[in-house]
Amino acid sequence: MNQSTGRSAVFLEEMGVGALWRLRQPVAGLPDAELAAPAGSESDAADVAAPAVAAVAAAAAVPAATPAPARPVAAAPPDGSTAWFDDAPAPPPPVPVSDQAIAAMDWNELKTAIAKCTRCQLGSSRKGVVFGRGDRNADWLVVGSGPNRADERDAQALSGAAGKLLDNMLLAIGLQADNNVYVTNLVKCRPGAADGAERAPTAEENAACRPFLERELALTGGRIILTIGQAAAGGLIRSPAAARGTVRRLGGIPVVATYHPEDMLRQSDTKAKAWGDLCLAKRTHAAAD
Ligand code: SF4
Repeated sequence: MNQSTGRSAVFLEEMGVGALWRLRQPVAGLPDAELAAPAGSESDAADVAAPAVAAVAAAAAVPAATPAPARPVAAAPPDGSTAWFDDAPAPPPPVPVSDQAIAAMDWNELKTAIAKCTRCQLGSSRKGVVFGRGDRNADWLVVGSGPNRADERDAQALSGAAGKLLDNMLLAIGLQADNNVYVTNLVKCRPGAADGAERAPTAEENAACRPFLERELALTGGRIILTIGQAAAGGLIRSPAAARGTVRRLGGIPVVATYHPEDMLRQSDTKAKAWGDLCLAKRTHAAAD
């Protein structure tokens, strides 16, 4: 017996109350209280304690609730593969954005839509999308066919040496590349051949990406288009015929074709012809004022 228990016993004795008993665990139907034996004999105390002892015994005899059976868990294959996921239903394919939705987009929406576009097969092979660059409120639109590997890596339309040559060509007719000029492509994802070589976009790829280009043209408010390279000229006007030296029209906007700067880097004899094309474009733009 410890000191506090001994003091309690003395107080109870003085109050005419017998020994203090406390159940070691709660018993259903009995208050969780001290059971005080009336002062008197040991047998009196035993008589009071008997119901509690019986109740404790009865509680101990109640069988424990049967636990719910565990849900079966599929065992992972011993080789650690995830082939057991093959039976899971495939997620639904993303819904391509519609032409109508694109036609109502602002610049930010257009950029977001292009970044996650699945309108053509290039969406599954690209390593990144290539947006247009330059002034978003430009008279002049320069349109190539599609980004190449370097453009895709740099995430910039007409990057590298070809881009520098284009900027110099524009400078030669009094235009700054980032002022009143917007440069873009018919398709925003790189068309790559099976062997990894560059290729022109197909008619289907051009058609799928066309609403994005048309929205760029509308948002910039462009007044003249300079196509670079034969694939861009044919893809924009939807005609395979060579278009250099003439002014054609797209929805009322004059279109002038010239060489792609990459071709000009390889064939220096094209530069004089390209200068003639630029002069034609300059005159056409001035005539529209
Ligand atoms: Fe979409 Fe154009 Fe890229 Fe095709 S090329 S996935 S249409 S953004």
